[in-house]
Amino acid sequence: MNEIVSQTLSAGGYLKQAPEVRARFDRMKARDVLLEVKSLGKTFRSKAGTTVALSDINFQTHRREFLCIVGPSGCGKSTLIRILAGLEDQTSGQVLLGGKPVKGPGKDRGMVFQGYTLFPWLTVKKNVMFGLEVNGMSRFEAETQARQWLSLIGLDKFAEAYPHQLSGGMKQRVAIVRALANQPRILLMDEPFGALDAQTRTRMQAHLLEIWRKIDITIVFITHDLDEAIMLADRILVLKPHPGEVQELIEVPVPRPRSEAQCGSEEFNVTRKRLEELIYAHGTDDHEAEEDDASVYASLARLTDINDNVE
Ligand code: ADP
Repeated sequence: MNEIVSQTLSAGGYLKQAPEVRARFDRMKARDVLLEVKSLGKTFRSKAGTTVALSDINFQTHRREFLCIVGPSGCGKSTLIRILAGLEDQTSGQVLLGGKPVKGPGKDRGMVFQGYTLFPWLTVKKNVMFGLEVNGMSRFEAETQARQWLSLIGLDKFAEAYPHQLSGGMKQRVAIVRALANQPRILLMDEPFGALDAQTRTRMQAHLLEIWRKIDITIVFITHDLDEAIMLADRILVLKPHPGEVQELIEVPVPRPRSEAQCGSEEFNVTRKRLEELIYAHGTDDHEAEEDDASVYASLARLTDINDNVE
């Protein structure tokens, strides 16, 4: 271990926050709690036996927070996000969104998975329009909004293309805005960039941060990649290996706005070391872990009914 990092760590370096970082966390915590997970447990029972996937999970996420969830493979991350999405029932405990219990899937939650989930038979524009029309929007309004969203991610020129004509990164950008177009209160993302090459992944992280900064959205993002979690998150929820329990909730001390240049910074390194200590301390071998257009933002500004810039 690098000596300076080692010294800082022993002084609890990842807990130190510059005044502007502390002020940002104070602002975040002053916002309403949007998501509350209380004593959540999940046990799978089948003929093959019983698996406790999650045990006594407790945490809260504030409005406009970016929360990442990390933990070794099999610790229950996907199970947790599926329960938040309402795709899976918990065995015990509660999930509250805006104070109301989550019961099944709902429009208030958008979901983006690792696999490309666009409808292959629809154009990019129609993929974005689909959910809007299903929810009762007129075709004209849905098309107008779809075009605005595609401009936001720099893909307006691809509106009439089909998914197979897009790169992996482009497909995930469309999947993100398709989920956001329905104006969910929270975006649930399960390893959304896991299938992308490193360079595209870095670009996608920047895209996502830019979108998050501009609209009123709370994000819960699962990843194996510790650097990705530090680059994106306000706070990182670290789960213990199987069965999943909360190990620590880390406030990322890296200032915003974030960029690749911060990857080697002291704040970044001490946070990474702390995550490694937590995740690999249990003897797991799991090292699997691992266009900006102001006018468009302005036209989408009505989506942000909160005036406090998250960065
Ligand atoms: P992670 O996403 O962290 O890799 P998962 O949530 O996929 O973990 O799985 C957590 C545990 O629950 C694992 O032991 C897994 O085998 C088990 N599990 C997940 N889904 C099911 C299921 N449908 N039936 C039985 N066991 C399951």
